[in-house]
Amino acid sequence: MTGSCRRRDRGYPHLYPQTRGRLTEMGVPESEYLLHLLEKGICPWCGKNIPEGTRVGTGRKSEGGFCSLSCYGNYHALELHERARRVSDIVKRRERS
Ligand SMILES: [Zn+2]
Repeated sequence: MTGSCRRRDRGYPHLYPQTRGRLTEMGVPESEYLLHLLEKGICPWCGKNIPEGTRVGTGRKSEGGFCSLSCYGNYHALELHERARRVSDIVKRRERS
């Protein structure tokens, strides 16, 4: 018998605890990706580093921070599933480099 081996704890083990809100394709909540990027000072829309003191956002960490109002607006204009995909792409791209 095979198949009892569930994939878990790959990639972001510490990000799994509370699953609130939307999930990305990888099963990670969008808010956790936003938090991850916020901590690194990376804009979830364009993937650039956010200069100190210029962050734009709601002030809630789980909603992330952006480098400009247009990035913020563009991001929030997307459908939820598009956002989740976009933010996971940014995270993956940044981790590869
Ligand atoms: Zn940006």
